[in-house]
Amino acid sequence: KASAGGYARAKDVPHALELMAASEGAGRFLAGGQSLVAAMNMRLSEGDMLIDISRISGLSGVSLSGDHLRIGALTRHVEVGSDPLIRDHAPLLTQAVTHIAHAAIRNRGTIGGALAHADPAAEFPACALALGVTLHAQGDNGTRDIPVETFFEDVFTTALEEGEMLTGLSVPVAEPDEVQVIEEVARRSGDYALTGLCLVRRASGHRLSVFSAGPVPMLATGAMQALDAGDVDAAVDALRAEIDPPSDTQASGSYRRHLAGVLLRRAVSRIEGDRA
Ligand code: FAD
Repeated sequence: KASAGGYARAKDVPHALELMAASEGAGRFLAGGQSLVAAMNMRLSEGDMLIDISRISGLSGVSLSGDHLRIGALTRHVEVGSDPLIRDHAPLLTQAVTHIAHAAIRNRGTIGGALAHADPAAEFPACALALGVTLHAQGDNGTRDIPVETFFEDVFTTALEEGEMLTGLSVPVAEPDEVQVIEEVARRSGDYALTGLCLVRRASGHRLSVFSAGPVPMLATGAMQALDAGDVDAAVDALRAEIDPPSDTQASGSYRRHLAGVLLRRAVSRIEGDRA
């Protein structure tokens, strides 16, 4: 059970920021609660002042704006998985949802919560990196845009400043011939991945992100160059050389490194199949 703490429901973003400023460092934004409440129950986080942002209108939903999709931070995993705009213009996210946890968690968890939480084994952060999204944040100093390449700083640590809220993200719309795939291995359906990767092939080249292979999801730039040159064997070697996965009770680092290469070959063969 969680330790005693406070709770307040924010009616809009300025109200949430006011509550955060008044909380003297104890404030935590509560979105879907699927990671935060679990952490509180395990006493990994104590004495929190929960600032419930889950009912702020205007922070959820998907819209098309020129060559970008705008996704609100409070859009739930289940909505991401069924949204037709996302399916047409950012199918990587649609695929990713099928790997995230179970229906009950997908019904509550939000894409903004998953990105702000920055679990190194989570799917959405790696998708965001492969797609090259821009994150939108709002804090006491106003609004700002953060390129995803600078957002994930360490395990459970992002570029969001103290008390700053993620309000949404802009995802580049897929080009007509673009192909996007996610591959992962988990012990059981719905478990966090032992290792996974997202591969996007655009006219300008490949983007490959790896997750559950280090403290943050990372772009495997050496492997991307080899894929651009059409050399899959070299890409697999480069990928295995540029990651340094941890060993834990689930898998050894060397097994994760091996898996990454296997997953890359699977992803490439899916992309090639799509071309045929
Ligand atoms: P919350 O739990 O409400 O918040 C998480 C953190 O983010 C908190 O620190 C909170 O203050 C902060 N936060 C939330 N929203 C914002 C915001 N808008 N701005 C700033 N900070 C914010 N995830 C996966 O990716 N893959 C899995 O396989 C997976 N399996 C799971 C299995 C189980 C059993 C459980 C319980 C969870 C699992 N999850 C998995 C996590 C799930 O996807 C969470 O929903 C998600 O990581 C967090 O989203 P949330 O909306 O619930 O955030």
